[in-house]
Amino acid sequence: MSIEAGILYIVATPLGNLGDITQRAIDTLKTVDLVAAEDTRHSGKLLQHYGIDTPTLSVHEHNEQARIEKLLTRLQAKHSIALISDAGTPLISDPGYRLVAAARAAGIKVVPIPGPSALITALCAAGLPTDRFVFEGFLPAKSGGRQKHLQELAHETRTLIFYESSHRIVDSLNDMREMLGGDRDAVVARELTKTFETIHSGTLDELCQWVQNDNNQQKGEFVVLIKGKQETPSEHINEEARKILTLLLAELPLKTAARITAEITGEHKNKLYQLGLEIKGG
Ligand code: SAM
Repeated sequence: MSIEAGILYIVATPLGNLGDITQRAIDTLKTVDLVAAEDTRHSGKLLQHYGIDTPTLSVHEHNEQARIEKLLTRLQAKHSIALISDAGTPLISDPGYRLVAAARAAGIKVVPIPGPSALITALCAAGLPTDRFVFEGFLPAKSGGRQKHLQELAHETRTLIFYESSHRIVDSLNDMREMLGGDRDAVVARELTKTFETIHSGTLDELCQWVQNDNNQQKGEFVVLIKGKQETPSEHINEEARKILTLLLAELPLKTAARITAEITGEHKNKLYQLGLEIKGG
């Protein structure tokens, strides 16, 4: 494989199972001038497994900014560099964003070499809606911040995806239950692609119990996916339309009250009819 000089490659690596790497990723790592790795010791095992002896340089959360100049100088000198993280796709809850932004701003070509990422790996097996989803990465470490953040997501209708670590999984699931409701459908995906891979569905109530009662389920790496809020059509109707409909319902049949409210407010007649049924039903 021939590598164009002066390119920054963003190379996805396995999440756990060493077989999950593309031929293109291996070829790229073999032929670039430098592999920039989050943890050179950790990635050394992967590189060794594939017989890759390209020099490495550490680029992690704490030195990324300081490394940018050095890496850009090399890229401008037509050296090619591959960025990898400890697992999965770099930049996804991992370092690299500032480097990629700086490289692009400097006119350097950035080429992605796609592969696994825990969020997509979990989503495709979770059995929750996949057409629209929100990736939230890691929630705040402290319960106060976590609950506030979850509160802001309480009305989100898209599937929610979070990353979580073993030491916070129990507390986070409990906060999710408290802020989003115990009856919300969710999935815990643990140790994906590894020996103890577990993908477990249930309500947040059930999942909290299940993880709390089994220490083994608290070990490893986690993706938590939560079904978006299922809103009834009438939940979107504004307050003024609700008030008018409620007043008219006291005097008129439902169909007429819904039609007049729709004319006054511009809200959809069928949704108002639905809301009228809910109001009448108490
Ligand atoms: N860049 C990675 C990616 O593309 O998914 C994510 C890196 S982030 C620092 C690490 C987090 O990703 C873990 O705490 C966990 O939430 C999730 N994760 C990574 N590997 C996983 C796996 N094998 N099973 C479940 N979750 C995993």
